[in-house]
Amino acid sequence: MDTRELREVLRQSALLHAVLPLSSVCNVRCLFCSNNQNPLGVETYSIPPRPLDEVLEDIPLLRSHEKVNIGESATRINEGEPYTYDGINVVLSALRKRLPGAVISLTTNGTLVTEDDVRLLSELGAVEVTLSLNARSPEARESLMADRDPGRALQTVRWLNKHGVTFSGSMVAMPCVTGWADFEDSVRLLAESGAETVRVFLPGFTGVASAEVERQSRSVDVGAVLESARRLTEETDVPVIVEPVPMTSSLPLVHGVIKDSYAAHAGVRPGDELKQVDGSAVVTATTAYDRITRAASPALTLERGGIEVACMIQKPSGAPSGLVFRGDLDARRLMKTIERLRTFPGRSAVITSVLAGGYWEDIILGQALSGRTKVFAAENRFFGGNIRCAGLLTVSDFAEVIRGAAMASWGPGLVLMPGEPFDHTMRDLIGVCWEELRRVAPVLMEVL
Ligand code: SF4
Repeated sequence: MDTRELREVLRQSALLHAVLPLSSVCNVRCLFCSNNQNPLGVETYSIPPRPLDEVLEDIPLLRSHEKVNIGESATRINEGEPYTYDGINVVLSALRKRLPGAVISLTTNGTLVTEDDVRLLSELGAVEVTLSLNARSPEARESLMADRDPGRALQTVRWLNKHGVTFSGSMVAMPCVTGWADFEDSVRLLAESGAETVRVFLPGFTGVASAEVERQSRSVDVGAVLESARRLTEETDVPVIVEPVPMTSSLPLVHGVIKDSYAAHAGVRPGDELKQVDGSAVVTATTAYDRITRAASPALTLERGGIEVACMIQKPSGAPSGLVFRGDLDARRLMKTIERLRTFPGRSAVITSVLAGGYWEDIILGQALSGRTKVFAAENRFFGGNIRCAGLLTVSDFAEVIRGAAMASWGPGLVLMPGEPFDHTMRDLIGVCWEELRRVAPVLMEVL
């Protein structure tokens, strides 16, 4: 890719995904880093620190109502550690000046952050930090991340707490490397230091990961991680959420409640099922989350252990309530999809990732569309390993489902598939255009 094309990818990151990439440089080397696990042919880009002028030039492309993301790999750019970037504080200050009301989401490993940096985050306001801690003891941090200054990230956790910066913790669960005691102590440290939630990621590996990474990832006992997360949630009163796990239900079940949040003060509890928001029925977690966030002091009807409970979450419109749900499909996109399936005059099919298959089955059932729509889960054959998500599906993965016997015997007139794997030119991660699928079967295909 030449410089002009790369510049366009960076501009599109800001414009379409509200992601402002700074640099692919990172100061640590995590065993599980996805930047090193791409099969041959994958079009992702590692970039040196960008010229500051260029980054500042892209800030006006961001929309004021969207959350701006820094340091999270959500596009084709391999994100590094944002605090390796000399101009990080200039960029953050410029963002706040240009977008006074926008939430800035910043993901960091915390190993280069100073107390002055944290003070600035606190002054800027509306900054949500995700601190990827992963391990606590010097030995565990050395083995898992090659972190040579292990005390620094722990200090950052304390500074975030001291200066009142909203933050969540994240961990990659590799107790086979760090030991269970370190894993659980790290979650406790985050929780005791004021993390709103702790996300625990099960390690992913692709078909080209090293044998060692594959062995370590496979040895993770998922059941034990889930049980540990359940116990830690109970012990710390902070939602500890394990991802990715297959979604089997679209019901608006409250997965967690952030401590001292509006929802916690209203008495909502994990396990509650939302029935109504301001008198209107809600049937999926996505729409429930969306409506509660947008509303000012929404009145909720919940079901708790078979009993109906009413409460009101006292909060301003647009403020997050503190409720944590599983499933993050955009509510508008979900409603558009349901509408399309409902109005299509004939049989239809929805292709999903393996992880989201159960969720979509549930949606189709709940919307009484079973007689006319079927769900087909696509395997991530190109990426291989234990990858099962929509963002890493390729045109060849979709083609395999469309060519398959199950799809042929259903004979849909419309096939819908997720848009996550495609960029602004509708190419997948290896540069194959979505249009290629039209050669596979003469059927109407659309991207969600
Ligand atoms: S901190 Fe993030 S970017 Fe750096 S090595 Fe670890 S996973 Fe990769």
